[in-house]
Amino acid sequence: MPHGARVQVSQEVVPVRTILGLEMHFQVTSVKTKLFCSCSADYRGKPPNTNVCPVCLGMPGALPKPNRAVVEKALMVALAFNMEISPVLSWARKHYFYPDLPKSYQITQYDGKGVMSLARGGRIEVEVGGVKRVFRLRRLNIEEDPARLVHPTGSALTSPYVLVDFNRSGVPLLEIVTEPDFSSEVEVEAFLKKVRSVLEHLNVTDFSLEGALRVDVNISVDGGERVEIKNLNSISDIIQAIRYERERQLDALRKNIPIRRETRHWDPIRRVTFPLRRKEVEEDYRYMPDPNLPPLKITRELLEKLRREMPELPDAKLRRLVEEHGLSPYLANVLVSRRALSSYYERVVELSGVKGDLVASYIVNDLLGWVPEESPEKLWKLVPPDVAAKVIKMLSEGLITIKMAKEIIPDLLSGRDPEAVVTERGWRVVRDVEELRSVVRQVFAENEKAVRDALRNKRAIQHLIGKAMERTGKRADPRVLRAIVEEMLERARAELEEEGPGAS
Ligand SMILES: [Zn+2]
Repeated sequence: MPHGARVQVSQEVVPVRTILGLEMHFQVTSVKTKLFCSCSADYRGKPPNTNVCPVCLGMPGALPKPNRAVVEKALMVALAFNMEISPVLSWARKHYFYPDLPKSYQITQYDGKGVMSLARGGRIEVEVGGVKRVFRLRRLNIEEDPARLVHPTGSALTSPYVLVDFNRSGVPLLEIVTEPDFSSEVEVEAFLKKVRSVLEHLNVTDFSLEGALRVDVNISVDGGERVEIKNLNSISDIIQAIRYERERQLDALRKNIPIRRETRHWDPIRRVTFPLRRKEVEEDYRYMPDPNLPPLKITRELLEKLRREMPELPDAKLRRLVEEHGLSPYLANVLVSRRALSSYYERVVELSGVKGDLVASYIVNDLLGWVPEESPEKLWKLVPPDVAAKVIKMLSEGLITIKMAKEIIPDLLSGRDPEAVVTERGWRVVRDVEELRSVVRQVFAENEKAVRDALRNKRAIQHLIGKAMERTGKRADPRVLRAIVEEMLERARAELEEEGPGAS
């Protein structure tokens, strides 16, 4: 089954009133350095505590310096989501005590206490089950990622000690908080896929990187207390956690057990949520403006420059592919749902000189079936665009059929050249009329009953076409073959009529 079919989500009937809100964290993976120092933002795969400096280790007296590229990326995101951008860029200290944060405060942004969120408000339009819905955003902040805690046994509950790796400390994060506008996991899924696509097209976050997405979900059921689920880092985990938590809360209500306001953790192995800490009151983080980071004006000139430089967003790309490339809306939708797919399509178009559904369908319905669903970027390596372009060229020139283009995929995956494979297998499309007539004549002679059926019932003709197609090794040009079968049936009918009624 093509993966694209799974993009369409069906509206599930939820009998109870569920209220859901999201707090999303996206790593800005496209910048070179961390948020406040010149250490590399690419911390993955390095020996522990080697990608560090006094700033990201939180040493006393170390002075942070904001990374301009991160601020610009964040502002582009705010523009893309039609948010109201703050006139000043200001930074807050959020105090808490934890081993992942040696300076005992995280540098972030905040609305109030003398500072401002980078942007507020904003709306995201999403198609849910064929219906357009609008979900509201509350705020967008930039903040630093804390260090990574490593539990030697793999579990916070059983490990005798904890290791701290500061390589990730100070990596830039965007925090986007929504209003509690969602009533089901179906809406949440469609929304997150849209946000993911926009951040990919803006070149902010590479979602194939582990830890690039982290979402907390707030959920309450039937007017009960709000529960926060933490540690969700894939869309499928988010969906499953919501389903589990809704059932858990409903079950408690049925048994008259009050639902406590608390933070729960998602266990991706056991696929359950478990309580982390009670949350009777809002924790007091003692927010205050960071005295080391004076506020900066966000000028209209900067915003205008960013608006001009902004890459094409998924909605605009979708319209362009439908209007200028003549793509069917379904295929265009699947392509723009991931930047790796839409850019792959455009590269194949560029290399083959062919555009439209022929290309899009081959990518979405055929090639994508060989790629892990959540990792469409792997297509670039598995079947490089120049290889796919060769197949598309042969297809569009009628040298091979769609069937052959599908059959060739395992060869493409093992790195073979499509033209060489076609030559080696002696594949060529048979459209020689005389050759096909002789095939059809033989098929008619061997299938007299099927011929009589086809004369009575037009739909039975498909059986004869199938037989003839088999005989050519599926190499016949389907349109030419059909025309010949129809022509020869007409001839058979005329002969029957000449013989007169009763002769059969
Ligand atoms: Zn550093």
